[in-house]
Amino acid sequence: MHNIKVITTTTEMQEYSDRMRNLGKTVAFVPTMGFLHEGHLSLIKEGRKLGDNLVVSIFVNPSQFSPGEDFESYPRDFDKDFELLQKESVDVIFYPDKNDLYRDGFQTYVELKNLPKHLCGISRPIFFRGVATIVIKLFNIVRPHIAIFGSKDYQQLAVIRRMVRDLNFDIKIVGFPTVREPDGLAMSSRNTYLTPEQRINALSLYKSLKQSKKLVESGSKDAKKIIDAAYTLIKSYPETVIDYIAICDPETLDDMETVDRPALMALAVNVGKTRLIDNMIL
Ligand code: AMP
Repeated sequence: MHNIKVITTTTEMQEYSDRMRNLGKTVAFVPTMGFLHEGHLSLIKEGRKLGDNLVVSIFVNPSQFSPGEDFESYPRDFDKDFELLQKESVDVIFYPDKNDLYRDGFQTYVELKNLPKHLCGISRPIFFRGVATIVIKLFNIVRPHIAIFGSKDYQQLAVIRRMVRDLNFDIKIVGFPTVREPDGLAMSSRNTYLTPEQRINALSLYKSLKQSKKLVESGSKDAKKIIDAAYTLIKSYPETVIDYIAICDPETLDDMETVDRPALMALAVNVGKTRLIDNMIL
């Protein structure tokens, strides 16, 4: 049985990584909020290939949730996560306490100027500040050479890439494709909130992305028309409330009116009380 180490304090985590670095080992890192599924495991398998040592963090980060969002009810199951990570031969689970990461008097945040003004940042105004801050903190604690993120959270990946460039972090950021259920629904820890009927309605996100890709492949270039068709498709499913559907530049996330080069289509939809996101390059 693989011997996995669970580290719960920031100092011990830093010491571990320093030791590995001094031995000339590369440290690969996959940050997560736990309740692991195949999407997380795909990043972890990639991390296993890319680094001599693989650290996976499990931390539900309070600073990225607004009041009224699902911080308290976010699904958690450490024992099951531990078992899965053991099977993947992960070296370290970093499982910190929020009072260790956010000490009394905490007041320093990392904020990006433009990327958060788009997509999810509009309805979740503190989300990317919380994400950027926790990721920088984890980078300083885990001190990885390589970190792997899913492009299911496309805007988050864009924010992290930008921040690493802007702040001169010597860390290679690897983006990995979205893992989907056999019918196309993007895997997410939040899918467990869905009732069986909502699970069917949740498929409208992927269906609208596929429909949009087909439209572009058959010659449509008008972003507004493609978005309107996606609205119509999603609204035909019960219990769906669309937050946004956008077609935008894959790097700046600025809206595109004409799809005359690769474009990102991204959307967020509440299905019942569950907020789901998905995206695809058109
Ligand atoms: P989370 O636990 O939701 O914060 O996600 C941790 C990491 O897993 C992030 O880099 C996510 O983008 C990634 N991830 C989540 N769902 C998927 C998925 N279905 N496919 C690939 N990566 C994913």
